This record gives sequence, structure tokens and C-alpha cells, in this order.
Amino acid sequence: MAKIAINIATGSLQKEEIIVGIDLGTTNSLVAIIHPDTRQAVALKEHNSSSLVPSVVHFDAVGNITVGEEAKNFLITEPQNTIFSAKRLMGKSYDDIKENASFFSYKVIDDNTQSMIKIQVGNKFYSPVDLSSFILKELKHRAEHILKTPVNKAVITVPAYFNDAQRQATRDAGKLAGIDVLRIVNEPTAASLAYGLGLNKEEEKTIAVYDLGGGTFDISVLKISNGIFEVLSTNGDTYLGGDDIDNSIVKYWLQQSGINEEELKLNKEFAQAIRLKAEEAKIHLSSNDIFEGVLNADQLTLTKKVFESLVQPLVDKTIACCSGALKDAGLTTKDIEVIVMVGGSTRVPLVKENISRFFDKPVNDTVNPDEVVALGAAIQADILAGNNKDVLLLDITPLSLGIETMGGLMDVLITRNSKIPNKAARQYTTHKDGQSGMKISVYQGERDMVKDNRKLAEFNLTGIPGMPAGLPKVEVSFLINADGILVVKAKELRSGIEQSIEVKAQQDLTDQELEKMLRDSITHAKEDIATRALVEARTEGEQLLENTEKFIQKNASQLTKEEMMQTAAAMQALQLALTMEDKDLIHIKVEALNDISRPYAERIMDTAIGHAMKGKIV
Ligand code: AMP
Repeated sequence: MAKIAINIATGSLQKEEIIVGIDLGTTNSLVAIIHPDTRQAVALKEHNSSSLVPSVVHFDAVGNITVGEEAKNFLITEPQNTIFSAKRLMGKSYDDIKENASFFSYKVIDDNTQSMIKIQVGNKFYSPVDLSSFILKELKHRAEHILKTPVNKAVITVPAYFNDAQRQATRDAGKLAGIDVLRIVNEPTAASLAYGLGLNKEEEKTIAVYDLGGGTFDISVLKISNGIFEVLSTNGDTYLGGDDIDNSIVKYWLQQSGINEEELKLNKEFAQAIRLKAEEAKIHLSSNDIFEGVLNADQLTLTKKVFESLVQPLVDKTIACCSGALKDAGLTTKDIEVIVMVGGSTRVPLVKENISRFFDKPVNDTVNPDEVVALGAAIQADILAGNNKDVLLLDITPLSLGIETMGGLMDVLITRNSKIPNKAARQYTTHKDGQSGMKISVYQGERDMVKDNRKLAEFNLTGIPGMPAGLPKVEVSFLINADGILVVKAKELRSGIEQSIEVKAQQDLTDQELEKMLRDSITHAKEDIATRALVEARTEGEQLLENTEKFIQKNASQLTKEEMMQTAAAMQALQLALTMEDKDLIHIKVEALNDISRPYAERIMDTAIGHAMKGKIV
């Protein structure tokens, strides 16, 4: 299997191009590389500055974008225009985050649908993918400035619990930033690599990665064997971290000086100043016994003893998560051979002591906990570049493999650069009542529409027993064996009927063709992502029209004249929107039709249930 480097700017083939490791974090992000002379992983930084770039994006009144420390300064003064924690929104719908909506001080659009979230700044809308791409672009620029060479390829890390959609969103963000994302790596895997774990093929180990950052806590249990990292379980709390320690300190100081918390909310500048003092105290107490500071001529004091009493409840929560993760993995603390510490908050000695006591082992904390994930990503990047000959580089798929779904979209089952052998499966269903066949078209490539990719094969799954649309469960599975042969199988799970086909995934594809396909995916990233969003909106709209039509035909007698008229008008408006190139308009019309039909649909359902229940003892 080929591994090809391309220069995105010129399109020329490059044999030796730098591949960087990127930790795209919730609070901070950073870039690391393997130093060409020392062969050690190092985080990139300008002289006298930190390697950490705050994952904050600020928009000024005329639309200029700044990222990092400079943007962070606007968090208090311009909360509406300053976006933090975009990572928490990656691959999510409003429904997914509505319980924590108050956490975001900027405008997250509540359009009450299952579609991907949008953020409004002024009169512009941004997706979390756009926002992450701004951060990645900034990281790319900084790296290019420091390294004095183009940086076009990267390995990016994500939490182990990220699902398909969140991983894809991260890839998309990379693409938009002009970065070819060679691999998405789990953060705990990267952290383990930074400690040299998994680099020796013979090694078999069960490890726990404890990651307490600024705003999130993750514990992952991994098994390493034959150089492969398997995630056995993950647990954590997405709203627990160093910020909570700072808040506890602030609360304590307010109590001491008799100020109530409501007053703090009114004085934003004071609130920010005391929060920064609290963070300073926390960091100071990692290596001292007492903190003494001054704020507005008032003395602020914190002893280590009081500090630890404030931190203890937080640590206890993380330990409960660790127990949960062990239970899910079917393991006990005795089975864990190595504990890796990640995240700035693990610098608190009390945290280390507690975790070490819980697992009854010393913890690994020699690598900078803020940089350890990026350093590991750089090691993975180096392995992909083929520089680390000691590590077996598994064969990889040079292009993504997937099938065509509604509207001509490419649905990727195995992403580019996945190791071989590999398998993946996903379930699909029919969209017409009584549909007895399903065409499975297999494609290879990085573009979002199948028409821009390369067709490898096509076959029909026939004989699906007559069922209403949406009921059949067709599982499509891809299996690539060690020789790169792809077997595609489709099976209707209710009836058991199945069909399969064998494809040679590499069919006479020249290096030039491969290079062109990769380059195209990056040059067209923006329009591809927009097209996909439009096609998805259209599919949703078409399905809603079809379902409404069916519902009305069946239940016409139970609808009022006014409901009929309103529905007809809303359907017509949606139909018209479907002919236009505006996904937001389609979403609005879908919502409008839903708003009209929801009340009578519920009423009719209730009546139907009422009839069915009559005379039955419940
Ligand atoms: P991360 O998200 O991994 O970058 O971690 C950032 C968090 O680590 C913030 O809450 C920092 O206040 C915290 N942090 C950084 N250094 C220290 C330290 N020496 N002691 C305690 N917490 C720290």
C-alpha cells in the first residue's frame, strides 16, 4: 500500500515532508514534532512563550478573527463574540447539549432539531467544524513560522469516547484548515506513546490514562498488545477540571470576606481578577505550603491544608469514575500495570497521591502533562512518516472506502489511512414502503459526493420481504484482508437474506491518480462540506414531505379544514425551498411544517392508543 506526501500548495509530490502532531484541546491546543537532530518529541513554541495556544476564537466587529491568548482576553468583555470550548460541540446537535446550554456564554442556536449545531456571532453562523478549523489554521501558521517550512500534514488527537460523527468533524476541520489529516488518534493512546508504551511489539500491558484538564476529566483503560491499542473502557465527567478548583477557591475567599456570590456576578472585572488569583494560588500551592496575595488592597490567603480540603471532593469524584471504568472493563486496580497522568491539573500533588493510593502504584508523571498528548501525536506522526523503523508500520488504506447513500452522498465506512486488515459495519434501512431491493454501490475517495469519487463495485441486495419503509435493517459490512482485498456484504437482519461481493480496492490506481484524488479533496473541502449539508437538508425535507403526505391520506377525516389548509401551505413552501440552494431555508420550512403537524399527529396517535386500550385491563 502506498503512502504519498503531497504539497497542498503546489500539488507536487514530496517524499520528505514534516508531519506534525496536534493536540486539539478543549481549553488549550498545541503542536509537537520529532526534532530532526535529537529525534526527541518536542512541543513547538516561540521564544519565551508557552507552547499552549488557548482554544479560543474571537471575532471583532468587522469580522477579523483572532485565536489564542489574544482572543482569551475578550472572554469577559465580549462574551458574545468570543468562542471557547468549541470542541464540546463537535459533531453534536442542539438536543445533545441542551442540558448544558447555559455553560456557553455565546449564542448556540436552538433550532430544536437533530441537525448539527450552529453558533451565531453577529449576523454570521459558524459550525463547530469552522471554529476548530480557525484554531487549526492558527496552529498551522505558528508551526510554519517556527519551523520555516510548510506544514500540510498532521496527526490530530481526539478523546477516546469521540464517536464517528465527532471524529469526522475533526477531520473536516483539518481539511478546511488546509491540513491533510493522516490519522485521528485517541488522546490516551498518544499519551501512552509519549511514555514509550506500545513501541515495543512484544509488550503486553493494561494501562490507565488519567486526564484531568482545565474543564474536563477522562479516564481510559487501554490494553496494548502487538503494538495495537485497544480501548477497554472510558469514563469521566465532561464538566469537571481545574476550573472547578479555581471556583472553589473563589467561593472560599468570598465566604472569608463576607461577599455574596450574587455581587460577584455583577462585577465582571472583579470576578475575573479573583478567579485569576485563585488559579495563581492553586499553582503556587503545588510546591509551597501557603499562598499570600493581594487584590484591591485586600489580603488573600490560602493554606495548603484548606486548599486540599477544597480539592478533595473533586478528586473523590474522579476516583468514582475510575472505579466505573474498571468495572466496565471487567478489571480491578490490581490489573492495571501502568498509570499515565495527563492534563495540567494532575500537577496538584494531592491528585497524584490519591490516584497512586487508589491504584496502589506510583503514577507516571515525568512528561509535561500539558504537552504529553501532542508529544505522543508527534511520535505517531513520525511512525506514519516511516522514520521510526523499529516500529512495525501496519499497511494502511490509501483512500477512504464507503457506499452511496441518499442524495448521492458518500458514507465512509473505512477512513483513509486505516490499518489493514480492517473491518467496519453500519446499518441502513429502506425509504420506500415494500421496497424489496437495495443497491449497494461501493466507492473509494475523499470527496463528499460519490460522483466525485471512484466507483469500485455495485450489487443488489434483493428479496427483502415487504415491510414499511424504515423497518428493514440492512447491515453493510466491509472487510479488508491483509492483501488489500475488500469484501462487501449486505445482510437484511430481520430476514437473514444476504449478498456479498469481492473488490480489489487498489485496482490499477496510479500514484498520480491517487495524488490528484487527495489534492482535490482538500481544494474542494469547503464546497464539499456545504454540499453535504445541503443534500442532508434536502433528504430530510423530502422524507418529511413523503411522510406527511402518507399521514394525511390515512387520517384526512380526523383533520380540521384549517389544519388541512395550513399543512398544504407549509408543504408547498417546503417543496419550493427544496428547489433552492439554501439549507438554512430548508431547515426553517421543515421546522414550520413540523410545528403545524405535531399537534394533530399527537392528537390522532392518542386517540388511536385510546381505542386500542379500550376494554383491556392494563
Ligand atoms: P489542560 O487543559 O491540560 O491544559 O490543563 C489546564 C489546567 O491545568 C488549568 O485548570 C490550569 O489551571 C491547571 N494547571 C496548570 N498548572 C498547574 C499547577 N502547577 N497546579 C495545578 N493546576 C495547574
